[in-house]
Amino acid sequence: MRHPLTRELHDLLERGRDRQLRLAVTGLSRSGKTAFLTSLVNQLRHAGLEARLDLLPAAREGRLLGARRVAQQDLGVPRFPYDQAMSALDATPPRWPEPTRGISELRLVIRYRPSRRRLLGGETRELTLDLFDYPGEWLLDLPLLGHDYLSWSQAQQPTIGCERAGLFAVWHDAVSTLDPASEVDEARLAEIAEHYAAGLRAAREAGFSDLQPGRFLLPGELAGAPVLQFFPLPGIAEADRDTLAALPAQSLYATLARRFDHYLQHIVKPFYREHFRRFDRQIVLVDVLGALNAGPERFEDLSRALANLMQSFDYGRRSLLSRLFAPRIDRLAIAATKADHVTPEQHARLVGLLEALLAEPLKDLRFADVPVRALSLASIRATEAREVEQRGETLPALRGTTLAGEEVLMFPGEVPNRLPDAAFWARQGFTFTAFRPLPREGGALPHIRLDSALDWLIGDKLT
Ligand code: GDP
Repeated sequence: MRHPLTRELHDLLERGRDRQLRLAVTGLSRSGKTAFLTSLVNQLRHAGLEARLDLLPAAREGRLLGARRVAQQDLGVPRFPYDQAMSALDATPPRWPEPTRGISELRLVIRYRPSRRRLLGGETRELTLDLFDYPGEWLLDLPLLGHDYLSWSQAQQPTIGCERAGLFAVWHDAVSTLDPASEVDEARLAEIAEHYAAGLRAAREAGFSDLQPGRFLLPGELAGAPVLQFFPLPGIAEADRDTLAALPAQSLYATLARRFDHYLQHIVKPFYREHFRRFDRQIVLVDVLGALNAGPERFEDLSRALANLMQSFDYGRRSLLSRLFAPRIDRLAIAATKADHVTPEQHARLVGLLEALLAEPLKDLRFADVPVRALSLASIRATEAREVEQRGETLPALRGTTLAGEEVLMFPGEVPNRLPDAAFWARQGFTFTAFRPLPREGGALPHIRLDSALDWLIGDKLT
């Protein structure tokens, strides 16, 4: 085994020679990360064979020779379960892979022939691609770093009367009986924290996205640990700051404030420091169609969540992120996933809607000069585009098999190409059906524009 320092040095040299790239995939739960990474690995492994990657010049020009998996660098990060994902897709009937729940990694070595202008004696080259997948929920925690416990509690006051607040009713009833100055009762605190986490889980189940703290939803090995046992205290105000700060260490307030700080120092910051700031490129996946199907309150909630999430890519010199971690992502893609849920002529509208949803963050990114591209794609296409004749008209349609196994031919509706207005919601003109993956007859997985995403993310390294 090589000495770790030599290995790091080797990696550093490879990076300097443009031969190594760390590409991260993120998005909120069910945005399609597992499907994307599975398909990406599958396409690259079948490159030069059956994969359809016409939008990736190296593949179109026959220069992409293939990819193999090799042992990853960081042994502390779980390996992305590619084989399990492929077995699910190859089952009879095919199943969607189990989603990953935390960070995972996979290392590929891609072989290619340089393009003619760089060609020196027909040699081949290798690019080491480190792929990472991590929950977008973790990025929702970045804004926490701009808060202390008091200001965070204030920012979390639920909007009374909305559906989302209703899901926190049990927690709210319990927390309103608490006195911040009272001596802490650990067991009671754990119970109320569990009500808070249950509220977050129920909100996610109900289709809401803007949920903090992110680790409460995906606790992994931290489930039940006191660091995840805190919650905001309703009713405390800036005017109480001095009084609250003077409370003894054993008080409920001081205990919650300590746990909040611990969460920031030991959970949020290490993720940014040890992983995030080392990514070179990033793709953020967004299930725009799912949110569109879920109605106005959830759609607006997704929009808020994305605004929060995108703060992690705000490289303005004075941004929280730049001050704390100096990240170095030099290229970003934002993709509306599951485009195979709509007919092909709707795809451009889907990108329009994604851009409208991310208008503010995109403006900031362009201002900060971070190259960013918005696109729509289907990592694993589960439908086929058809045309149907109706009363002398030719109409676009989709054919697919529902999860229950029923074959359908349908027109799911029109996607608005800007933020939907009240009239759109009143019409409810969009039906989203979950489809079963298509059975695979060997070869690469069918996709829509995954090659375009690949071109933006790694294409320049394959010239
Ligand atoms: P994750 O939680 O972000 O890893 O999301 P997954 O990759 O597990 O995707 C969630 C679900 O979305 C899957 O189980 C599929 O039902 C659906 N899905 C993901 N990608 C696609 C796609 O390209 N096409 C279709 N039709 N469905 C998809």
